[in-house]
Amino acid sequence: MYLMDGKETAKKVRAEVKEEVKLLQHKPHLLVIWVGNDLASQTYVQSKEKACNSVGIEATTLHLSEDTSQRELIQTIQEANENPHIHAILVQMPLPNHLDEKEIINAIDPRKDVDGLHPVNQGKLMLQMPGIIPATPKGIMRLIDNYCIDLTGKKVIVIGRSMLVGKPLSILMLQRSATVTMAHSKTKNLHELTKDMDVIVSAVGKPKLITADMVKEGAIVIDVGINRVLGTIVGDVDYLSVANKTSRITPVPGGVGPMTIACLLENVVECYKLLKND
Ligand code: NAP
Repeated sequence: MYLMDGKETAKKVRAEVKEEVKLLQHKPHLLVIWVGNDLASQTYVQSKEKACNSVGIEATTLHLSEDTSQRELIQTIQEANENPHIHAILVQMPLPNHLDEKEIINAIDPRKDVDGLHPVNQGKLMLQMPGIIPATPKGIMRLIDNYCIDLTGKKVIVIGRSMLVGKPLSILMLQRSATVTMAHSKTKNLHELTKDMDVIVSAVGKPKLITADMVKEGAIVIDVGINRVLGTIVGDVDYLSVANKTSRITPVPGGVGPMTIACLLENVVECYKLLKND
């Protein structure tokens, strides 16, 4: 078993971003909009801000109260769209229940949509046109490339079908000529399906979802899940039992997480460049 070290790979990506930022005329500026008081969101927002600062990107967090209305939030986004000093906008999810996430994402200028969730960016991904790709799937592909893994003809299962991770990742892997199966909460016989796979990606959020009996000898396992268990962070994979069966595996923490942050930084720079090219 060999680790796919996201921490080390992310360091390289971050160093590249830092160099690129130095060459830009202005500092790219990310606006993070955080609505409500979700504690996990607070941690994510702070780590994004810190990561931006470490590579010379300016980051501002706008913290709005839990009872912010749909109209107020959209107006805030529209102001940020029009503000020439803001190059990238991230609305921290999840939003409070009374807000309509799809409508909120739709309000973001696609060129500033750093999470790549706007229909324009999701459509471009589908059509293999240049656009903003969500940071987690992008980071996973970077990790795969860093370890020179050829996906051509490989049987891949992506478990989880969110717009942020599972769906875009499936498309990206399909574009690399993998044979992709998508699984979700209604999938029958997940245990049987995974046994036949060369690559298993779990993006669900359930500890110990993937156990050793589900994994073929020599498979590659990519664990996207982040779960808090007894004060520690674990993935979806029962790492201790699964790792020995794999040829490559991502740890949690230190696997996909750091790659997500590194590719988010890359996306901020991409947004900046998209705007400056206009
Ligand atoms: P999400 O929107 O909640 O999606 C979860 C997906 O898992 C859904 O498609 C759901 O199916 C599926 N699912 C739920 N239970 C299942 C089961 N028993 N068997 C198979 N599939 C099941 O979550 P997300 O935003 O994609 O995130 C997924 C996980 O990745 C979370 O733990 C999140 O914290 C983590 N994450 C990590 C990073 C990172 O950087 N490491 C980044 C983003 C997310 P349905 O569609 O049928 O409901």
